[in-house]
Amino acid sequence: MKKTVLVSGGAGFIGSHVTVELCQAGYDVVIADNMSNCDETNYKGVCAILGRQLPFEKVDFCDVAATKALFAKYHIDALIHFAAFKAVGESVEQPLMYYKNNLDSFLNVLEEARIHGANVLFSSSATVYGEPDQTPVTETSPRKPATSPYGNTKQICEDFLRDCVQAYGMHGIALRYFNPIGAHPSALIGELPRGIPNNLVPFITQTAIGKRECLNIFGDDYPTPDGTCLRDYIDITDLAKAHVCAVTRMLEGKMDEPYEIFNVGTGRPVSVLELVNSFERVNGIKLNYRIAPRRPGDVTAVWADPTLARKKLGWKAVRSVDETLASAWAWEKRLAEAAK
Ligand code: UDP
Repeated sequence: MKKTVLVSGGAGFIGSHVTVELCQAGYDVVIADNMSNCDETNYKGVCAILGRQLPFEKVDFCDVAATKALFAKYHIDALIHFAAFKAVGESVEQPLMYYKNNLDSFLNVLEEARIHGANVLFSSSATVYGEPDQTPVTETSPRKPATSPYGNTKQICEDFLRDCVQAYGMHGIALRYFNPIGAHPSALIGELPRGIPNNLVPFITQTAIGKRECLNIFGDDYPTPDGTCLRDYIDITDLAKAHVCAVTRMLEGKMDEPYEIFNVGTGRPVSVLELVNSFERVNGIKLNYRIAPRRPGDVTAVWADPTLARKKLGWKAVRSVDETLASAWAWEKRLAEAAK
């Protein structure tokens, strides 16, 4: 029998790509989203890629009754939880909104997962490592005190999951994402930042298309080879496939421990300038950029040791940064076409 995966936040950037990969791997998927931070573009794109309509439920997971009703309606074998606010700066300005939304919603789905015996995959982040003492970071590298309420919610939710697994005999996996970038090769789904993008790649593509005048490179005086920060940019489709491996590991009872954590990154550090140069070369575009002051809160360098995911999940990143940057540009161009 086909297993059913509930993808909370399934209309968003990562959730939509994960939904496609899960369906293509043979899972039934129920998408649930409150649409607070996205429109229907990605949901429609997912259905177009798959050639069929997927079950969609408009649910706010802070609403206990609605969450209960959803778990009563479907037999959920596994839950992948993406539904959360994600803007670091906004979380500093509105911590209560972030704590309420990101923590309440996860508590509510954990309660239902406990009642219904569903496995839980939590979307965590490399922000939990802060400024690491050693790079690359492994899953046992220490977590550092969070520098924003957003980052703190990732740490707290990891702890919620760990404690629930221990207390209630549940199974859970936290995936720690590095820097997800790019779009589906079909250019039918991708990132849809609201307002001015915070993240580097959407800012690059919006500058290239003429929506932004100039890209600011935040600091070129870091202690790195070219002075700009180092990150681990992971292709969104590669990242999505890691979820399929993790869900399958849980559902097939292959976990070594009932709670496991995996880094999802490439293991390759790339500087901001390298990424900008690659974007220009791959897409044949001259980008308008300037060196600007450092952005407060940025860490100098963080990248993954992805060995554990390779060994235990049988997963590794396969797409090159060039392919990914081409996909990001194709997506931006498609958005511009659609807006005409
Ligand atoms: N960055 C930049 N200009 C921008 C946005 C980001 O120079 O307009 C840099 C940022 O300082 C960091 C890297 O790009 O070194 C990745 O930033 P992003 O916000 O995409 O992800 P983060 O690693 O902060 O989660």
